[in-house]
Amino acid sequence: MIIDLRSDTVTKPTSGMLQAMMAATVGDDVYGEDTTVNALEQQLANDFGMEAGLFCPTGTMTNQIAIRVHTRPATEVICADNAHIFKYEGGGIAANAGAQARLVASTYGKISASQIAEVINAEDVHFARTALVCLENTSNRGGGSIYSLAELNEIANLCKQHKLPLHLDGARIYNALAEGDYTSKHLGNIFNSISVCLSKGLGAPVGSVLLGSKEIIHEAKRMRKLMGGGMRQAGYLAAAGIYALKHNVAGLKHDHQHAKQVADVLCNNNLVVSMMPVVTNIIIFKLKDANTADALQQQLKQQHILANKVSTTELRFVFHLDVTPTMVNKLCSAIEAFKG
Ligand SMILES: *Cc1c(COP(=O)(O)O)cnc(C)c1O
Repeated sequence: MIIDLRSDTVTKPTSGMLQAMMAATVGDDVYGEDTTVNALEQQLANDFGMEAGLFCPTGTMTNQIAIRVHTRPATEVICADNAHIFKYEGGGIAANAGAQARLVASTYGKISASQIAEVINAEDVHFARTALVCLENTSNRGGGSIYSLAELNEIANLCKQHKLPLHLDGARIYNALAEGDYTSKHLGNIFNSISVCLSKGLGAPVGSVLLGSKEIIHEAKRMRKLMGGGMRQAGYLAAAGIYALKHNVAGLKHDHQHAKQVADVLCNNNLVVSMMPVVTNIIIFKLKDANTADALQQQLKQQHILANKVSTTELRFVFHLDVTPTMVNKLCSAIEAFKG
């Protein structure tokens, strides 16, 4: 039994999901004829109260398409210093959109309206034009933190004042919805585009959907083709997404409970010196020093428990639907037994 806490991307389709995939009716999605893809796009668009959706292979692609659609070359994208779009998308803001990132020092991955206001450039030939604000909810590198409705509304109002579009990297948006004080419809109102991942905690093997207005999605479809992301009988993959939305959203709460249970045990180990607030399914914690972090990673691995290091002294556990209560108990015992 391997307990894989490296990411919530490691989930494998269940037999129920595989059956739903095999039973899908499909067509050529580049011609718009895949009824299952169309159904998934429409379902998510309706759920968030947005006009249209676009099924893509990855969340990187949905984010990068959104950035490209909202910006022009030589403009600026405001985001957190540890945002996925900046840190983990291969330099795509520059390569795909010809834009640059304007980084804001985040608190657990979150940035505030006042911080954003400070970095919106005035009209001046020296400055890149500010073109877009991107938020991440939950924040991956911020330890799964979530925005509150008040924080989001404040940022949305600022963006409206400055006529700036607001994009949401919602790779784990259902984790945020499980804990946040808002609904998907609130988010559809606040953001101009939203990227939703189906292949994280929701357990689908592949797939993300970009949501937005008809105009944005029309442009996005061009960009998806240009990037090589126009797929043909993609309904087999979209069926997994529809299945995931029906069966795997409620279980996210269990992942969050598992994270809290393990966080409590970590707090009692005096080799753990700090931990980001545990709000959803991610725990990022700091060990006494780099050797201790290596030792914990190695000792867990000997017990078939896999975890990623996110810096020399920090480890990350990510909980997901393939992590059972039994596995959580085994992890807790392993942490209790860890003496360096
Ligand atoms: C995983 C992730 C993505 C998308 O990743 P893909 O592997 O390209 O699907 C985007 N944003 C965040 C915050 C993520 O964690």
